[in-house]
Amino acid sequence: MQAQAAPRREVLQKETELRLEVKENHSLTLKLVKGQAEIFGTDLLEQQIYTLRAQKIAVFTWEGCELQLQGIREPVEDAIEVIYESGDTPMREYANVHDLLQKRRAAALTHGSEGPRTMVLGQTDVGKSTLCKILLNYAIRKDCAPTMIDLDPGQGSIAPPACVGATPVEGPIDVEEGLPVEMPLVYFAGNVSPDPNPQLYRHHVECMAALLDKRAQSNLQVRAAGMMINSMGWIDGLGYELILHALNTFRVDFVLVIGQDRLYSQLGSIFRGNQSVSVIKLTRSGGVVNRPRELRKSSRDQRIREYFYGPRNDLQPSLVTVPFANLRVFRVGSGFAAPRSALPIGGQSVSNPLKVTPVTSMNDLMHMLIAVSHAQQPDQLLSANIAGFIWISSVDPVQQVVTYLAPCAGDLPAPFLLAGTVKTFLR
Ligand code: ADP
Repeated sequence: MQAQAAPRREVLQKETELRLEVKENHSLTLKLVKGQAEIFGTDLLEQQIYTLRAQKIAVFTWEGCELQLQGIREPVEDAIEVIYESGDTPMREYANVHDLLQKRRAAALTHGSEGPRTMVLGQTDVGKSTLCKILLNYAIRKDCAPTMIDLDPGQGSIAPPACVGATPVEGPIDVEEGLPVEMPLVYFAGNVSPDPNPQLYRHHVECMAALLDKRAQSNLQVRAAGMMINSMGWIDGLGYELILHALNTFRVDFVLVIGQDRLYSQLGSIFRGNQSVSVIKLTRSGGVVNRPRELRKSSRDQRIREYFYGPRNDLQPSLVTVPFANLRVFRVGSGFAAPRSALPIGGQSVSNPLKVTPVTSMNDLMHMLIAVSHAQQPDQLLSANIAGFIWISSVDPVQQVVTYLAPCAGDLPAPFLLAGTVKTFLR
């Protein structure tokens, strides 16, 4: 038997962080030997082993700590892309924002009013999702369970890409598995950007806000805990209009802008004079990693894979073959329309963006992610949320059958399906 290589020991001073990137297709284990440490607000338990797979993280400590890193089937150095310690972090700023939000939650609980509705804004790769995680985890430490809302169809923290979604966060975010998403509220935009069909995106934002408002009205704790809304990194032109629409629709009262002077000043002037909305500028952490376009695409594909196979590759999806006629697939607007940016100024990419039409060519669906809608009738497809997803593995025009991958065997949970434009290869 091969002897295990020696672990790597790291000692962190208080209010510093260890920034660590694990290589693609590699993993390593992390252990808090002593002291206090957290990953994006999730407290690490002393002596517990955490497995990190191709992640980019920071282990931050308020009080100082000792950590141990160990390779799994190789010396730990071989699994590490980047590792360094930094004392230059915006964590104090972020903790101050948490204090502000927490005061609002306490007041809301006392008066039965609404807790903070927070939206995090900024370009792509400024640390928006990370700040949402930190603030959610800090709220959970204070026994509050805010609702997390992800309005970025580009990556998908709550559901696979091409969706917007919401979920209550009742426990700390798992270091290995991410957000707990047992019963998320999900709408399928069909595309990883709202660009081809902004009307559909607006419609989903409105449907989601209406449902979440209802839930908040009927439960004091939910109402007081408030919302944490992550936004997309598209912040100019139509992207900016969609941000304003979301801010209004969710009645956001804490606007957090990371590292974007122009957006901060634009929003500051819009809400100037409105005492009930605070616009706060926050520093981008130097640790946030830029992800090139190809990495974004591969992490999207990875998210879809995880939906079916699990983050630890421990789920067993089923392959199911059915006649064409058994799959009733629809599309909203025209999923294959050109993005607006490719059209002449003023051009419309779809003639009726909210029209629901049946898909007639099964061949178009090859290797596509398809949503299973909760709709009971086709005319409900526009506004119904999503029960789950399947992936089309093969289409056989001779036998007139389709084979799809589903999270579990048996009939689909609902009869109507929605196609978009997201294709990937899973097997
Ligand atoms: P955004 O949501 O703005 O696109 P993210 O929050 O997803 O940005 O951050 C981009 C990447 O940087 C993620 O992989 C995240 O885990 C990583 N990251 C964020 N903060 C740090 C940090 N302080 N140290 C190391 N990696 C970080």
